Amino acid sequence: MEHNEAIQSRAAERYSTGQMPPDEAELFEAHFFGCLECAEEVRWISLFEANAKQVVGRNVRETDAQFVAVVVLVLNQRVPVTVPSYAQSLVFSIPVSPGWGASHVSLATAAGTARFTMAVPEAQLAVGSVTVMVAAREMDPGFNLLTLVSADGDQLDYPFDITLS
Ligand SMILES: [Zn+2]
Repeated sequence: MEHNEAIQSRAAERYSTGQMPPDEAELFEAHFFGCLECAEEVRWISLFEANAKQVVGRNVRETDAQFVAVVVLVLNQRVPVTVPSYAQSLVFSIPVSPGWGASHVSLATAAGTARFTMAVPEAQLAVGSVTVMVAAREMDPGFNLLTLVSADGDQLDYPFDITLS
């Protein structure tokens, strides 16, 4: 499998979420063992999935207060985010109007490194915010950007600056 093909077919996302047929998964594995970019995306989506499973059905604000830092992002406005040393996870709450139709959410660093692109669960759209949970120690200090992408390809940018304390 070529890198472009992997990107266009969202191979990392389908592979990490178990939506890829075994023979295609074999081809993709052969590719990403030698491709740093795809290997990173698989790693990030796997982390994201594991964290997302923990979030489902719980009120994060009340349960894991010492370990989870909740950050509310603002459209087109750089939000300073100080990550406390005790925080294991960061939960980003992204306000979006339900009618906007967010389809995917992606995270990129200032260096332009794409961390992951994930489908937005439909259940999240109904409540008017998209929640992204990531491992705090995986975040790069400095400028980061979460982007929501609609089914029509429109984008909303939610920038923030990470400081590790
Ligand atoms: Zn690749």
